[in-house]
Amino acid sequence: MSDTTTYDFVIAANRLPVDRAEAPDGSTVWRRSPGGLVTAMDSVMRGHEGAAWVGWAGEPDDAPEPFEDSGMHLHPVPLSAQDVSDYYEGFANDTLWPIYHDVIVPATFHRRWWDAYRRVNQRFAEAIAKISAQGARIWVHDYQLQLVPALLRELRPDLRIGWFNHIPFPPVELFAQLPWRSQLIDGLIGADYLGFQRTADAANFLRAARQLRGLSTKGDVVADSRGRRVRASALPISIDFADLDALARTPEVVARSNEIREQVGSPEVLMLGVDRLDYTKGIRHRLKAYQELLADGHYTPPQVTLVQVAVPSRERVDSYRRLKDQIEGEVGRINGEYSTVGAAAVHYLHQSFDRAEMAAMYLAADIMLVTPLRDGMNLVAKEYVTCRFDLGGALVLSEFTGAANELTAAFIHNPHDIQGLKDTIRQAVEAPTSEKRRRMRSLRRRVRDHDVQRWAERFLQALASAPDRPTPPGA
Ligand code: UDP
Repeated sequence: MSDTTTYDFVIAANRLPVDRAEAPDGSTVWRRSPGGLVTAMDSVMRGHEGAAWVGWAGEPDDAPEPFEDSGMHLHPVPLSAQDVSDYYEGFANDTLWPIYHDVIVPATFHRRWWDAYRRVNQRFAEAIAKISAQGARIWVHDYQLQLVPALLRELRPDLRIGWFNHIPFPPVELFAQLPWRSQLIDGLIGADYLGFQRTADAANFLRAARQLRGLSTKGDVVADSRGRRVRASALPISIDFADLDALARTPEVVARSNEIREQVGSPEVLMLGVDRLDYTKGIRHRLKAYQELLADGHYTPPQVTLVQVAVPSRERVDSYRRLKDQIEGEVGRINGEYSTVGAAAVHYLHQSFDRAEMAAMYLAADIMLVTPLRDGMNLVAKEYVTCRFDLGGALVLSEFTGAANELTAAFIHNPHDIQGLKDTIRQAVEAPTSEKRRRMRSLRRRVRDHDVQRWAERFLQALASAPDRPTPPGA
């Protein structure tokens, strides 16, 4: 394919949807990466022949040539080791991430990181501009690329640009701490449509635009300084219900779930936590509540056990290293005190598992503990109920997740309230089977009727019907 090929549907995300791997003969092959965004966009891409995806290939100082993979044009954006450290680990994960998650840990501000963020966003905008056909639709993803909409509009006013935020958008009081708050708002305002997980996130953005930039808003529409109108509204992301439900029903997954229960000592109550090892996930609060339930004598291994999957994450960022030490110390203390030979109180797995193993774990778990202090959505909660075709199990869900807005039939709690969390766990364990089945049926219906395909369709509809038309060519 020649260099001049252009595409009329372009996705831009920090990462490409593939990871580089080595084939047995030493050649390079690309494997689909396991992340939620990839699964989400997969169903969208299937309907769009000739679409392109712009993103980083995952290795610093290495820029593979653009290539084709599973019917999609993949266009790598190079990041140097310094870019990875300043733009990605620094500004995205140590400046924006804490501010956008209620400052659970303090944010770090460095002008050098901001410069790198601007530089990398410019690089993304140029890459998109280069491969986009006249009037193409562009879907930009997430907080790493908030400057792209305006930078791209500057280069290509003919494009129709949408942006979706996978994480929360903070209240203006927290957002205002950012020394670069104005530039971030101006960057986003370059889009035609801005999608958020919750109505509250969209409202936070609109309020920030009003209060910090003096822009006027009407309903969910904000006008930029030249009067161009941009819509900002909620469109909660979801999962591929049909696909995961079918996987969970396979004899292999069902057999594996039985095997898992046996391997952890056939407990009466198997509790499960599945998280990236991130301070937003409330893992310490969960362990505290569990430890107290054991200390109070409510439960004793092997009658009860907790399986905690903690996927390694961002291990080069200090706050993540500290969190790992704290969690592993706490797990060690709980096991030291409450385990017996052959009956562990906590099975701690610092690794990541494939979809089939995840489905088997979900199916094995009587109680799913989802306790984030702040989470844009939490796909694990939706995956759990999707796998429970047997209507078994119970979802204990933090009110501070995007998912709690939709999954109202879960056992909802405030994870900061340890007593409340303990009470909710006991309530979930002790609820009559009929009540659990009723709740699970309602939860599954919600995810089935609001799956990722519907999310993507609604996003593209919102983009197509955005309030202002892009500038026609030559205008
Ligand atoms: N996940 C996985 N393997 C694991 C643990 C988690 O594939 O061992 C997946 C999980 O199924 C889910 C995603 O990682 O799709 C986590 O998404 P979520 O929205 O819950 O949290 P995030 O990590 O995006 O903050």
